[in-house]
Amino acid sequence: PVLCAKLFIMASDSMQATIVLKAGREKSVTRRHPWIFSGAIIKTTGRPGPGETVAAFSADGKFLAWAAYSPESQIRARVWSYDPGDVIGPDFFKREIAQSIERRKLVAPDESVTNAYRMINSESDNLPGLIVDKYGDTLVLQSLTAGSELHKDLFADILAEATGCRTIYERSDAETRGQEGMEPVTGILRGGPATEKVEIVENGLKFLVDIAGGHKTGFYLDQRENRRILREFAAGRDVLNCFCYTGGFSVNALAGGANRVVSVDSSEPALEFAAENVALNGYESGNCEWAREDVFQYLRGCVSRGAKFDLIVLDPPKFAASREHLIKAGRAYKDINMLAMKSLNPGGLLFTFSCSGAVGPEDFRKAVAWAALDAPAETRIIKILTQAPDHPVTLNFPQAEYLKGLVVQIF
Ligand code: SAH
Repeated sequence: PVLCAKLFIMASDSMQATIVLKAGREKSVTRRHPWIFSGAIIKTTGRPGPGETVAAFSADGKFLAWAAYSPESQIRARVWSYDPGDVIGPDFFKREIAQSIERRKLVAPDESVTNAYRMINSESDNLPGLIVDKYGDTLVLQSLTAGSELHKDLFADILAEATGCRTIYERSDAETRGQEGMEPVTGILRGGPATEKVEIVENGLKFLVDIAGGHKTGFYLDQRENRRILREFAAGRDVLNCFCYTGGFSVNALAGGANRVVSVDSSEPALEFAAENVALNGYESGNCEWAREDVFQYLRGCVSRGAKFDLIVLDPPKFAASREHLIKAGRAYKDINMLAMKSLNPGGLLFTFSCSGAVGPEDFRKAVAWAALDAPAETRIIKILTQAPDHPVTLNFPQAEYLKGLVVQIF
């Protein structure tokens, strides 16, 4: 308490900006949830600018955290540190970045097997707003909040030094930047010129990644472990990969000895890219089929033709952008899963996913259960899937968990 009071006096004396929370609203911060909402703040001093570090205090003057201020966002401040002794600056960020990199050694221990992974995952690595994905020797950086934006150049310098990666490409074009009052930014941050397509290795398979034009930072790294699991189940099966993007699951199905792989996506460039990735790994194109079509339409066609598969992957884009879209999204998940169940042979496997953070694991499981009732199909859950561990979730920040998946056997 003495230290806290001292800090409080220091803070109000110096130029250090502060925020004071309403009585009771400090609870989530003391439980180490890193978001401070605008409605929780009763007083702001020092006129903090976008991203500036503020000291957060409880109503009774206790120091809570150092946080990045974001004047435009409903999430008005995001916590960097709960330690009053920390100084939010180069040494602090060097330490946090070094620790994130160190933690990845457990997740991707052998770069000859997997050299592409998420190195920094925002709040889950104590660095709110900063996403860094490593694709071989190239880093792709995404800055999503006012706080990460203010320190972006510093982050780039620290990352270049810590990893030895020469190219850092920026993909700060996620929609959520708008909520922070920031425009999209993309381009080379360090080194370069970035080659358009970077070749990576994931669980021993090769993929080309378009870091400048691909989805997210170029590749769905979050599905790495699930693709490997699919490989284990693919032998001798007729596989349908819906929403195939650049063919992650298709190539893994072939690696696992699938009999035939049909890949569906509405995007022609994605399909071309996927075919390129199949060839890159030396698989014959003879047992691959490509369909540029809406997946709902394609599956309805399968049902009416009576076409059947032994394994179907459903990895759709986010159906629910927020909780408001839950009902509509639930119906879409139900419909698509029902159509897939109808298109599976008895004993067939459904790999079904939802990447909507707003849809919880229970909501998702309910949608799949409704699908089974209507198909109708008898089901057994073979595996429960989630995002790869380089996209970690901390117990205090469950919002980081967004990818849910089930492997369901259909009878
Ligand atoms: N499973 C992929 C990632 C899927 S991303 C992987 O492992 O890499 C979602 C994909 O769905 C995108 O490629 C997008 O082009 C495609 N898509 C979105 N809506 C679609 C629709 N209605 N029908 C078919 N494809 C669609």
